Amino acid sequence: MTAERIDGKAFAASLRERVGEHAAQFEASAGRKAGLAVVLVGEDPASQVYVRSKHKATVAAGMESFEHRLPADTSEEDLLALVDRLNADEAVDGILVQLPLPDHLDEQAVIASISPDKDVDGFHVTNAGRLAVGQSGFVPCTPLGCMMLLTERLGDLSGLEAVVIGRSNIVGKPMAQLLLDANATVTIAHSRTKDLPSVVKRADIVVAAVGRAEMVKADWLKDGATVIDVGINRLPPTDGEEKGRLVGDVDYAGAKSVAGAITPVPGGVGPMTIAVLLRNTLVAAYRNADLQVPDGL
Ligand code: NAD
Repeated sequence: MTAERIDGKAFAASLRERVGEHAAQFEASAGRKAGLAVVLVGEDPASQVYVRSKHKATVAAGMESFEHRLPADTSEEDLLALVDRLNADEAVDGILVQLPLPDHLDEQAVIASISPDKDVDGFHVTNAGRLAVGQSGFVPCTPLGCMMLLTERLGDLSGLEAVVIGRSNIVGKPMAQLLLDANATVTIAHSRTKDLPSVVKRADIVVAAVGRAEMVKADWLKDGATVIDVGINRLPPTDGEEKGRLVGDVDYAGAKSVAGAITPVPGGVGPMTIAVLLRNTLVAAYRNADLQVPDGL
């Protein structure tokens, strides 16, 4: 068997197009564009790339992008004061503080200062709590994107065995909550799990969010399993390569002969993250403007 390749890039493009159409309708009803503020502290090269692509994608979707670039030695007081201003700014529907922050800044305190109704990354404890008890709030973009890919492929997930590998607050835990909400039987595996291969073997759905190159092997998988690979790992460069290849947490080449469907890396989960961020921002805009969030967003 050769697994179906789950094309996250194409799915993300269609989601972005849908968001763009609804963003135009929002502007017509609200008399203003939906707005996303992104705050970058310091000059981490990877963060600069992410912030640039978020800006471009926001503008391309017909929304307003407010970029705030602060020097690496910005004090916590100044950063919190900026977040306060953005919380109060009616043109700003979503606020994203790009992580990681420089060491002298307390990430938890900064996330806690964002209004939960503008927390489009879904990292605020209020949104984590809303997800845990099944209230509507904001769900972190990467796991929500994984969930969209899963439901598109599998439809109803009721009763399916799902194994999430990784228990981070931004991927593993919210992923498990979403699967539970969809009535899957959920196991969270992590660095202390005993005999991980046999835990993974019973899964109809495997979500790997570990950060270890090609750790999940083909012979760990159940025949026909649906595999969502969140990991992004760069291999050391081999002869003639300037940079090493990007690979996921799953041995794609081996897994595709056992799995029913699998996301590639790159081109799987990665493109979904920004598309869902745009979607969350537009949902925030509808809610902040007291307008009904359209179906299908
Ligand atoms: P993290 O480091 O916060 O968490 C990793 C988790 O893996 C931990 O919970 C740990 O218990 C578990 N783990 C570590 N070693 C393990 C082992 N040997 N066996 C089983 N579990 C083990 O990472 P994260 O932020 O959740 O990200 C995970 C991966 O996903 C990374 O590669 C990251 O780059 C990638 N990621 C991708 C996107 C995207 O947009 N595609 C977004 C976020 C993260």
